[in-house]
Amino acid sequence: MPSQSRAFAMAFAAAVLLLVGFAARGVSSGSSGSGALPRTDAAVGGMSLPAGQDSLRGRTILLDPGHNGGNAAAAAAISRKVDAGGMEKECDTVGAETDDGYPEHAFTYDVAVRAAALLRGRGAMVVLTRTDDSGVGPCINERARIGNDVHADAAVSVHADGGPPSGSGFHVIAPSLGPDGANAVILAPSARLAEALRMGFERDTGEPRADYVADAGLSFRADLGGLNLSRVPKVFLECANMRNPADATRVSDATWRQHAAQGVADGVTLFLTAPRS
Ligand SMILES: [Zn+2]
Repeated sequence: MPSQSRAFAMAFAAAVLLLVGFAARGVSSGSSGSGALPRTDAAVGGMSLPAGQDSLRGRTILLDPGHNGGNAAAAAAISRKVDAGGMEKECDTVGAETDDGYPEHAFTYDVAVRAAALLRGRGAMVVLTRTDDSGVGPCINERARIGNDVHADAAVSVHADGGPPSGSGFHVIAPSLGPDGANAVILAPSARLAEALRMGFERDTGEPRADYVADAGLSFRADLGGLNLSRVPKVFLECANMRNPADATRVSDATWRQHAAQGVADGVTLFLTAPRS
């Protein structure tokens, strides 16, 4: 969708100009008198985001940390088939892990909790699909239902891939039309969310776009229940490839995970605040 991408890039450029102007007004009317720039907790590369306490007030964000710590010991429960939007898939899966044994479920939960804190700091209501890392599931259809029920303005499933060890990098998966055609309404906004998340995550983490899957860090899929069943804008973020040695080092580092969370928060903020063309 090159023309849509260009329009989106132009919208971002407009957002930057708008926000630079906003920051400048903040300086001129600031009461501190220090001359310092207004404090902001979000700078995506050279861009300033409206990351103040109220920038996301009234917005609801669904964060879905992939897998769960109890899945491996609950094979029967998580392998049962559930509706995946005109197809059936397993309730949930165990997920990937690094060669050193750091599991994807722990990574996704840590990043989601960190991102939730950042987004709540900007005034958003954040709902997580699980609130610990020791349970089983929830099933993929339940994860989608939670986002639908809270009428999330944006939903992000956080994952890390288990790809070929030679491949590295992150990618964002946006929905294409599911087998039952019921997610048609979310395709366009989800594509915009994917582009915003790619921009935020890339700049906050420095992680390269995946070189073993997707196209320029983006892919579109119709085989993920979480995307087929969503009725709110939703994407999957594969933060890195856990089987790749360099990526494994990064995901195992709490400082990098904070950068990853910042990328999630900034990408979602960009999606929710960038003016539409
Ligand atoms: Zn996963």
